[in-house]
Amino acid sequence: MPLPWRKLIFYYHPVFLEHLPGLRHPENPERLKMIVRHLQEKNIWEQLQVAAPPPAELKWIETNHSPSYIRSVEEACRRAPLILDGGDTVVTARSYEAALHAVGACLAGVDDLLNNRASSVFCALRPPGHHAEHAEAMGFCLFNNSAIAARYALDRYSLQRVFILDWDVHHGNGTQNSFYDSAEVYFCSIHEWPLYPGSGARDERGRGLGKGYTLNIPLLAGGGDEEYLEALRDQIIPEIRHYRPDLLIISAGFDAHEDDPLAQMQVSTNCYREMTRLVRQAMREINGGKILSVLEGGYHHHNLADSVQAHLEALVEEEGVVHGA
Ligand SMILES: [Zn+2]
Repeated sequence: MPLPWRKLIFYYHPVFLEHLPGLRHPENPERLKMIVRHLQEKNIWEQLQVAAPPPAELKWIETNHSPSYIRSVEEACRRAPLILDGGDTVVTARSYEAALHAVGACLAGVDDLLNNRASSVFCALRPPGHHAEHAEAMGFCLFNNSAIAARYALDRYSLQRVFILDWDVHHGNGTQNSFYDSAEVYFCSIHEWPLYPGSGARDERGRGLGKGYTLNIPLLAGGGDEEYLEALRDQIIPEIRHYRPDLLIISAGFDAHEDDPLAQMQVSTNCYREMTRLVRQAMREINGGKILSVLEGGYHHHNLADSVQAHLEALVEEEGVVHGA
């Protein structure tokens, strides 16, 4: 039985390829080119609703980042190429435009889900977002796409609860800090630890009103499908069921894959399918299964593309129907 691809909106914009940290930089345009080429080869591309997002309005980016920081990113692109964080977060002439459209994709995705135009949305974007802090670029990230999307869903649609599940192999420090004091967004991260950026210990559980609404699941290097699926089943899914979010956002990095060059986890392509199924199953009972999935890391090009395919297939498959394996 063919998959109902039309239920999924896939956001992509050519400007994402114009953010150019350099081909030897792991976070380079080849990542997205490979995803697109792969989906075309598999004859999935033409079945998807592919849409180009508009740039986000600054007022929404300002809900998560200081205006002076946003201006400094724009400025830096005029003087590009520049390194923003003393390390590996590079901007070039069009990076600001790419980052505006990346946030734009997430906001458009929230609109689609909450106006019932799609059952799930995948944002194939770069630069990624989950390390970006309130006033600081970090770890290849400029603006925190997922955090801004969550804030937008709460403010624009008066939602009460948003759950962000971050399964990128690195801890989503920026997203955690955005909502550390808040019960409106439950932030859950599963990641290799110790690893960059160093945060994400188990005892980081939130503060004040946010106490209990942050959950970190640090895993030692070498963990794989068994550890991930067990954590999903025993810890994450029960939290999702208990919290009953109006919207679930996945900060979908695929760098826990066994072949990824930036980390040491052993997750298989199929595990991304299984994790997606588990989350979708839980959300079906809560909001009808609507999920906004936002690309973060994933640096082995072929396996990134494969993993994205598995993730997308699980996002659209009908209940009880098992495709592939
Ligand atoms: Zn990562």
